[in-house]
Amino acid sequence: MRVTAMQGKKSPIRTLGDPALRRPAEVVETIDEDIRQICRALVEAMLRAGGAGIAAPQIGISKRIIALDVDGHFHILINPELLASEGETEETTEGCLSVPGVSAPVARKTCATVAGTTLDGERIEIRGEGLLARAIQHEMDHLAGNLFLDHLSPARRRSLLQQYRRHKDDEEE
Ligand SMILES: [Zn+2]
Repeated sequence: MRVTAMQGKKSPIRTLGDPALRRPAEVVETIDEDIRQICRALVEAMLRAGGAGIAAPQIGISKRIIALDVDGHFHILINPELLASEGETEETTEGCLSVPGVSAPVARKTCATVAGTTLDGERIEIRGEGLLARAIQHEMDHLAGNLFLDHLSPARRRSLLQQYRRHKDDEEE
């Protein structure tokens, strides 16, 4: 039996095929109550789904906002910019809340630095290695309308999509 974290309440997380995931996100002009509310919804969706990170387009909001929750590092970043992705290239299994039930090895740089604005309007820089570096690069991809499966070879992508469809059919039965 597969128990999901979403039972009883429909998840706000958009899944593969939803055009919101492919739209480049827009810059946040002012951090107002609307933006604060979007951030709350984003963090709630991430925590309920048990994700290491999430980007606003994943809940259908085309704004440049990401949240990260990796190894005790919890951040909400508004208008994040990837300053650097460097170091070795490492292939590690990666998944996405918007493509539930499947994962695949994705090559990413082992080190990444992102700068952005916090909800308090403070500009911060986060430098991460390993999983944090991976999450930073993955969430930044979302803001450009890209998904982790875009990094796969055509053959691997095909097999991942087949697995995904099978998983979805099982879920819907
Ligand atoms: Zn994702």
